[in-house]
Amino acid sequence: MNKFIIPTNMNHSGVKTIFTTRMDGDRKDPLKGFNLSFINGVSEGSCGEQKSIIENRSYLASFLGVNLDSLVIPVQRHTDKVWIISETSIQSPIEADAIITSMRGIVLGVLVADCVPILIYDPDSGVISAIHAGWRGTASGIIKKVLDIMNKKFNTSISKTIISIGPSIRWCCYEVDPDVLKAVEKETGNLKEYSKGKDNGKYYIDLALANQIQAVSLGASNIWISEECTHCNPERFYSYRYYKGVTGRQGGFIGII
Ligand SMILES: [Zn+2]
Repeated sequence: MNKFIIPTNMNHSGVKTIFTTRMDGDRKDPLKGFNLSFINGVSEGSCGEQKSIIENRSYLASFLGVNLDSLVIPVQRHTDKVWIISETSIQSPIEADAIITSMRGIVLGVLVADCVPILIYDPDSGVISAIHAGWRGTASGIIKKVLDIMNKKFNTSISKTIISIGPSIRWCCYEVDPDVLKAVEKETGNLKEYSKGKDNGKYYIDLALANQIQAVSLGASNIWISEECTHCNPERFYSYRYYKGVTGRQGGFIGII
């Protein structure tokens, strides 16, 4: 089984795109494996764990052909804030849940454990983006906001963008309150296409499909979605719900190296 997932619609020369997995994860251990995040369960005193996270990020950076310093990951807060990186604005990570750049030689990344990692590439302008979309980001239309910025600021033709949506919790497992359904529907429409009620009276939603619908509404058509559910495969992916909030993070990464 592949340890890194390469979306089939991103096999262009020039752009490197991957979604990571836990690699050698263990269903019984919420952190073991290729964890890329310092948050959740890794305390200040856990020197061994922190060292392994830096080693994992270093391995990933060298796999992608950049230095560790060129791996740019925002401080994610479930907002719709977009960080546009230029030569003059690349600094310490700032709070944002999406990043856009036209710079070469850096890799944009987002970290997830059930939320939806989305990577976007415009082959014409060479602009790339990485997005973290949980239900809040989806309900605030963060993918539409990114596509709109790419269009207005970088002259991206949205119909020509290539979009890859990585592993996330799917509607087999993602039970939500009616308030969440309503919030996502308000931004997305077409509720029946990405949600369903079950016999137990609970509602289930699929945020990957909701983000796909939002992107299609703006003209995108080349969209790949991973078939894997993070919650169904806890030995392969970190899952916030499966481990009740204490777990590591996999990620989605894109760069023009
Ligand atoms: Zn599932």
